[in-house]
Amino acid sequence: MGNPITPNRLEKLVPKADLPAKEDLFSNNELYNMVDTQIQAYINGDDYHCEPGGIGYFVGDLLSSLSYWERDEFNYLYNDLSLSHWFMYAAFLSTESSLPEDFYPNAEQGNEYFSRTEDLEDFWDDHSDNISLFALSPRILRNGPLMLQVLDFVFGVPPEQGVIYVDYVLQMFDIYPFIGYMFPMWTLNAFASTWGAQNTIAMGDGMTQFFETVGLETVGPEYVLYHEFAHHVQFATNAGYRGSPERSRRTELMADFLAGYYATHYFGSLSVEETDRSENIIMASMAAYNAGECAFHSPGHHGTPNQRKRAILTAKEVIESESDRTEIIPARELIAKFDEIYEKKIVVPDAVPADVDP
Ligand SMILES: [Zn+2]
Repeated sequence: MGNPITPNRLEKLVPKADLPAKEDLFSNNELYNMVDTQIQAYINGDDYHCEPGGIGYFVGDLLSSLSYWERDEFNYLYNDLSLSHWFMYAAFLSTESSLPEDFYPNAEQGNEYFSRTEDLEDFWDDHSDNISLFALSPRILRNGPLMLQVLDFVFGVPPEQGVIYVDYVLQMFDIYPFIGYMFPMWTLNAFASTWGAQNTIAMGDGMTQFFETVGLETVGPEYVLYHEFAHHVQFATNAGYRGSPERSRRTELMADFLAGYYATHYFGSLSVEETDRSENIIMASMAAYNAGECAFHSPGHHGTPNQRKRAILTAKEVIESESDRTEIIPARELIAKFDEIYEKKIVVPDAVPADVDP
């Protein structure tokens, strides 16, 4: 393997031409486009202006705390070896749920995800079957067989060469621990995906680490899980739209609406009396997504913070307007309600892009 202090860099990895489009596989990827935009803006200096929101500052702070050599190595791993993609595709190719202890920061959090997912499955009448939960973590690197499968699937790298790539990254994680297993940039993400019979929700270490820095480590990841599960409700009811910022925004705001419905329903995660907690849930969603400007023209656009907040609050209103608040509205009916009020109540009051600085 050469000198462990300065191993030679390997050839850049290029995705296979026949790889299913990332947009198709990870269209519900919550933060990837945004984080990537932030990183590129940072790496390329002042190429373009992008006003960072909460996550943007988090990314900026992390990157500016790197030493010259760490930054150089991070750029190489991120851009040339597409390391964050290794983990995304691992979530996608893995056929099993992770173990509770695989989730950040501990098994307790993992167990919370599993029991909450069972609860969500009971709550919603329509959703994908057999949803597996995947701990999106740089520790997946230690799963050799899965990593080799990923490198082959994504980049067409045969296993005998794949081993060299995996070893290289492991060495770098040893040499530069700050950009290693605990570095949030690798997995600042969460997504729901469906492919063949495989239905997955991936929860990134980096996402939970971000929530820790803003004091929302309890409600933040919880809200993200409701939102990801809502995508699986959409998959089962064919209710998602993709392909343009406007379509993506509608899909994401619908997922927020469904997540908000679950969060505030009597049989959901919160009793209707617990207003403080539902406020927290709203704050969590805001914190996670308040850099929407940077992804404004992205096919993965999620809506502005105000629109997202309104999607959640509107769901709460729907519950409050019911005479029997213990009734759970079937998913399809709820989605029809959303479609009815979408333009007027959720989008228009925040006319695009009035709240964005030029
Ligand atoms: Zn989403």
